Amino acid sequence: MIAIPEKDINKLKELIVQAKKPLILTHYNPDGDAIGSALAFYHYLIKKGKEPMVVTPNDYPEFLHWMPGNDKVVVYKRNNGTVLNALKDADVIFALDFNDPDRTNGLEKYLKEASGIKVLIDHHPDPSNFADLMFSYTNYSSTAELVYHIIESLKDTELIDSVIGECLYTGIMTDTGSFNYNSSNPYTYYVVSKLIELGINKDKIYWNIYDNYSEDRMRLLGYCLFKKMEIFPEYHTALISISKKELKDFNFAPGDSEGFVNYPLSIKGIRFTAIFIENDKNVKISFRSKGEFPTNKFAEEHFNGGGHKNASGGYSYSSLEDTLDNFRKLLPNYKSLLNDSL
Ligand code: 5GP
Ligand code: MN
Repeated sequence: MIAIPEKDINKLKELIVQAKKPLILTHYNPDGDAIGSALAFYHYLIKKGKEPMVVTPNDYPEFLHWMPGNDKVVVYKRNNGTVLNALKDADVIFALDFNDPDRTNGLEKYLKEASGIKVLIDHHPDPSNFADLMFSYTNYSSTAELVYHIIESLKDTELIDSVIGECLYTGIMTDTGSFNYNSSNPYTYYVVSKLIELGINKDKIYWNIYDNYSEDRMRLLGYCLFKKMEIFPEYHTALISISKKELKDFNFAPGDSEGFVNYPLSIKGIRFTAIFIENDKNVKISFRSKGEFPTNKFAEEHFNGGGHKNASGGYSYSSLEDTLDNFRKLLPNYKSLLNDSL
């Protein structure tokens, strides 16, 4: 792995030493990497003698609640006043696993206005220019892996214990789909080997994350694959859609649809998948691809979104049906790209 510039590391070192009220912030709908990297950094700062606050914009799935430090996370949606005051008071704000204040859905304005020094630690492409110090690198599997490299570069590797290790491993495992994608860099396995040396139980982490679903979630998945999946063989594409009513019928809980978007990629010939989930305000969309098809550009151009090449997301403010129609109509424009994308 290419070294992180020494001047940035020195600046970060100084910031950490001086920080009186550090705050760690993740993106909206935080995933395993957002929570994993944020809590790992939280435990690291505690070891440096700090008392950081970890903030998420909204709640996150129950399968992440086992993580060490989960009880310390302050959810903005349920603690508006506390979080806004903390953002105002913070002297250093660490933005983890997101590249644009937009991704905090609702905290954007307060983050931009906050007077604290902003440090971005993230692996998404094209960060917007809101941070004073940026650790923005796309060649890491996950923000968690980048956090490991940062702590290593700060010469604090010996502070990484199994608690920090569990958090970091969770981020790496979830952002690579258990080493399925974004995981071809040897450094990822170097970090994993170091974490396993610390005695983390990787199997237990896998069970906690992936074998912890409700019956409702399993039945919703079955229903989606049986009834709600559309295949477009000509375009090597598949979609799944879920309406508000269907979510209600299956007692939908946050996180229940996690991973659904990946299933159609297991069908022979499918290289591009999308899932459309209706909510009160809009239709939330996730995109995935195999190979060269840039889902982030597609999300950016048509669905107010972005992300990584093979995993991205966006929104539509039309009805679910209109959104699906719009998507179906776009496919012919991408026919040759989708045909050549493997
Ligand atoms: P997911 O589909 O799991 O929600 O998100 C996958 C990836 O897509 C995330 O890591 C994030 O980079 C990106 N992403 C998801 N939704 C959005 C969005 O609305 N806007 C942008 N810019 N990126 C998104
Ligand atoms: Mn991530």
